[in-house]
Amino acid sequence: MTSLAKGATPPPVLDVRNLRKVFGSTVVLDDLSLEVPEHSCTVLIGASGSGKSTLLRCVDLLEVVDDGVITLDGRDITDPRVDTNEVRTSIGIVFQAFNLFPHLRVIDNVTLALRRVHGVRRDEAEHRALEMLDRVGLRDRAQSRPDELSGGQQQRVAIARALVVRPRLMLFDEVTSALDPELVGEVLTLVTELKHDGMTMLLATHEMGFARQAADQVCFLDGGRVLEQGPPEQVLADPREPRTRQFLRRII
Ligand code: ADP
Ligand code: MG
Repeated sequence: MTSLAKGATPPPVLDVRNLRKVFGSTVVLDDLSLEVPEHSCTVLIGASGSGKSTLLRCVDLLEVVDDGVITLDGRDITDPRVDTNEVRTSIGIVFQAFNLFPHLRVIDNVTLALRRVHGVRRDEAEHRALEMLDRVGLRDRAQSRPDELSGGQQQRVAIARALVVRPRLMLFDEVTSALDPELVGEVLTLVTELKHDGMTMLLATHEMGFARQAADQVCFLDGGRVLEQGPPEQVLADPREPRTRQFLRRII
C-alpha cells in the first residue's frame, strides 16, 4: 500500500497523455491530454466530428491508439500486452443508441456480462441486477422486453447494465441524443445521481444545462485537442478561447 503525503493530490483514475488517433489521413486526436480525478465528472464538449466519441472509444480500448498513453488507476492500458477484455471489465460505457439485446428480457440484459464475463452464478447475478434495476427505478420492468419500454427506460437499463459490474470508471457518449425531449430529463437525473454517489465519469454531451450543473471539469475539444478546460462556470460562462465562444453561441 502506498500512503499519500498529507495534502497530496491523489492520482487521477484516468490519465490520458498525448493521445494521437488517426483514421486514414485524418488526424482525429492530436496530442490530446486530460485527467479524470476520482469521484469527479469530466464533460467533453465540442462540435460534431471533434473527436469526443473517438476519445471515449480509445479509453474503452475499442480503438487502438496511434500514440500516447492512457492509464487507469496508474496502469498503462495502452500497453499492447494488456488483456483488453480484462481492462474493459472495469470500465462501463453507455452509447447514444441503447444497444440492448432485443430478444433478452431486461433482467437478462443486465445479468449477461456478470454471468458470461465475470462468472457470477445466476442467483447472485439476478440479485445484483435487481438491486441495480431498483437503483435506476426499473425493478418492476425486470421481466419486460426492451421494445416494451420507452427510450428513456431503455437507456436507464443500459446504464444499469454498465453499472452492475461495479466499474471503476463510467463513460457516457451523448446518452440523451436519441431520446425524445420529454425523456431526456429522467436519464440526466440518473447520471447526476450517480455523480453524487461518487462515480468517476467521463461523458460527452450537447446538453449544456446539464454540463453546467453536473460537471466538475469541462473540456472543449477542437481540432483533436483539448483547446480549453476548467470548471463549468469558467468554460461555459466565461470562455477564454474565441473558438469556445463561437461553439457555445451556436449551441445554446
Ligand atoms: P464526435 O463524437 O465529436 O462527433 P467522432 O469521434 O465521432 O466525433 O469523429 C471524429 C472524426 O473521426 C470525424 O471526422 C469522423 O468522421 C472520424 N471517424 C470516426 N470514426 C471513424 C472511423 N472508424 N473511420 C474513419 N473515420 C472515423
Ligand atoms: Mg460522437
